[in-house]
Amino acid sequence: MTFTEAPKGTRILLIDDSDIVLRVLRGHLKAFGYESVEVMHAAVDAMLYLSSVESPDEIAVDLIICDIEMPGMDGITFCREMKQNPLTAEIPIIIMTANADEESLEAAFEAGAMDYITKPPRKIDLLARIRSAETLKQMLDQRRAMNRRLATANRKLEEMSHTDALTGVYNRRRLDQILETEWRRAMRNGYPLAVLMIDIDRFKHYNDALGHAEGDVCLRTVAQTLRDTLRRAGDVLARYGGEEFMVVLPGADQDAAMTMAEQMRARVEALAIPHPEGVGPNVTITIGVAAHQPCKGDVLSDLLSAADEALYRGKADGRNTVVAGTVG
Ligand code: GH3
Ligand code: MG
Ligand code: MG
Ligand code: MG
Repeated sequence: MTFTEAPKGTRILLIDDSDIVLRVLRGHLKAFGYESVEVMHAAVDAMLYLSSVESPDEIAVDLIICDIEMPGMDGITFCREMKQNPLTAEIPIIIMTANADEESLEAAFEAGAMDYITKPPRKIDLLARIRSAETLKQMLDQRRAMNRRLATANRKLEEMSHTDALTGVYNRRRLDQILETEWRRAMRNGYPLAVLMIDIDRFKHYNDALGHAEGDVCLRTVAQTLRDTLRRAGDVLARYGGEEFMVVLPGADQDAAMTMAEQMRARVEALAIPHPEGVGPNVTITIGVAAHQPCKGDVLSDLLSAADEALYRGKADGRNTVVAGTVG
């Protein structure tokens, strides 16, 4: 395939106030095989035409060839307007000028033109400029597509780095960040922060009796139930590790946190997942609850220890229960 024979799918918009120029150029383009050629006599018309769309994909123009000297809006102003509008900024513009003085060319390039051609253009010059514009456009499109794919992959990675693979709830890493953030926010805004430390009862026996796969299913079901019990937008459930979960309730005091914990305990029990060697006939959880309104000098670890210690007491008290802890 020769240089002049290569495919001509590019949709070209010609803008010039001179009818003759438009006719000649259109003739050249037709001769080269460009089928989709639109002509306009005024830059303003082109502006209106191009900015009436809502996304760049709707624009049926891949390349613009535009005269510099025109009555009304000149080619340089047009160029600048096009580059300032995100919808049209990516369309390459070749500027045409009868007198290629340095000053106006500099102005054209400054305004965002990608190339220029002198009038009247020779056919081969015209084709050469269009070819290089096409190559550039192709590279830009490829880069944009790649950037989009990268952005999607990054979002996915970020999400994965925050999520526990088995249960789909936040992982420990993310939990630690959330706890730090919420602790500081509660201190700043003067409201309490509550945490629930949740542990499945006799889960080792469950695994030993039914197998690890069955244990995984149980973990997922319990996590889903705990999550479904949360009501407020800022409330968070995370897997703390193994068969332990933590709930963070920004703004909740001890009473509110105890109510939430009791709901969670009751709902897990109501799932009625048979436990061969459980506290009762079904899978149950024990929850340690702690709430505190942080003041200067207080530390987050005291809140977590209080919940942990309450959980420990709940286990000692026979499990399947909710216990309130004391901070400090
Ligand atoms: P307790 O009532 O005192 O909490 O007793 P427990 O048996 O639940 O506590 P323990 O810490 O002795 O055992 C926790 C068990 O949880 C150990 C392990 O078999 C199980 N486990 C931890 N992580 C996973 C997991 O990802 N999948 C499955 N299937 N089991 C897990
Ligand atoms: Mg002119
Ligand atoms: Mg445990
Ligand atoms: Mg346990």
